[in-house]
Amino acid sequence: MYICLDLGGTNIRGTWISEQGDHGRVELFSRPRSLEGTRETMASLIRSILEQAPGRVRGIGLATAGPLDHLKKRYLRTTNMPELNMFPVGSFVQERFGLPLLMENDAQAAALGEVWKGCLAGTKDGLVITLGTGVGSGVIMDHEIWRGAHFTGPELGHLYLGSELGLVCGCGQVGCAETWLRKSSLEDLFCREGVFSQSLQEAAELAAAGNSGTVRALKIYGQRLGLFLSSLQVVFGFKNIGIGGGLSAFVPFCQDTVRRTLEARFHKRNWWLPGKIGISSDPDMSALLGMARAWVLSEQARD
Ligand SMILES: [Zn+2]
Repeated sequence: MYICLDLGGTNIRGTWISEQGDHGRVELFSRPRSLEGTRETMASLIRSILEQAPGRVRGIGLATAGPLDHLKKRYLRTTNMPELNMFPVGSFVQERFGLPLLMENDAQAAALGEVWKGCLAGTKDGLVITLGTGVGSGVIMDHEIWRGAHFTGPELGHLYLGSELGLVCGCGQVGCAETWLRKSSLEDLFCREGVFSQSLQEAAELAAAGNSGTVRALKIYGQRLGLFLSSLQVVFGFKNIGIGGGLSAFVPFCQDTVRRTLEARFHKRNWWLPGKIGISSDPDMSALLGMARAWVLSEQARD
């Protein structure tokens, strides 16, 4: 079995996961904004999971925000966690625990997890978009993460979707899909449509109750998501698309709009339509499961 960790800007979570995908209780710590604090929090989390794991742990899998070097197992110049720039996390856990590490971009790990045990289970190819603070993506082909010619894999959230909003993306460009679909943009839509909720959880409850402002906001969000997916389908033509991340809870309320937008775009080429758009039922678990899957694949490749 493996220890799987998910390290983001705010928190670090983890649990043990077996080769079959069984797992323990997920532990969560807030992440100190320093290298030393992050190292020690990670070490205590690993120690705690090692004590609970019901079998021999063969490796550690780390899903994390990048950019990162998955071969040298270290961070590069990160977008949102400058204290971790160039941190060689692989050699840190090897020295501290004597265990090897695999690391992947969190959205790509989530995609691997969704194709293995989540909303695209039973398939071997799929495109997974994670909607949250940012917009992540993972392309899985024949069970493996497809990295394309980019060392860090394709970052589809930075595809150009139009500059009408005029928002600058974290990558420095104006008009990225991320600026249309990220959490703050959905919150702006709710605000514009007169939805005053304290949290996204409350907004999801309003959506479930059919609140008219929420329905209007999610219709616009669904059109944006449909437009984004239509551009991706022109490139990839996947049968299966999965939607993960914290905002996936809103997708059931706009999936009809997403589907209608795709159908309108592809009215002359309906073979470009995906067969299935799956919605993650447990987006907090998918990157952790993906790291266990990455370990299983890497051990199979070695045998
Ligand atoms: Zn961008």
